[in-house]
Amino acid sequence: MHIHKNDLVKVITGRDSGKKGKVLRVIPSAGRVQVEGINIVKRSFKARPGVRQAGIVSMPAMMNISKVQLVCPSCNKPMRVTYQINNGVKVRICRLCKATISQ
Ligand SMILES: [Zn+2]
Repeated sequence: MHIHKNDLVKVITGRDSGKKGKVLRVIPSAGRVQVEGINIVKRSFKARPGVRQAGIVSMPAMMNISKVQLVCPSCNKPMRVTYQINNGVKVRICRLCKATISQ
């Protein structure tokens, strides 16, 4: 999976196209990500005594990983990563500025 938790990503398609956000969760098996502030849905909850009150909560919904692109923390541009093996460890490299992207 080329996108990891806590990465900054940019949405490249859909309703939130152009927005940036931090990855909160990645589900590699499903190819889905949850991004802070992106793809917000409103869910209404019924009260569960002792757990929560009834109400409407806005939360980011999972979305397809192909809809986002990793933003390089070094040059601040959305890009595709390339991989390099450093001392036996696979690292992600920005294709534009060649910076190593933290894992
Ligand atoms: Zn870069």
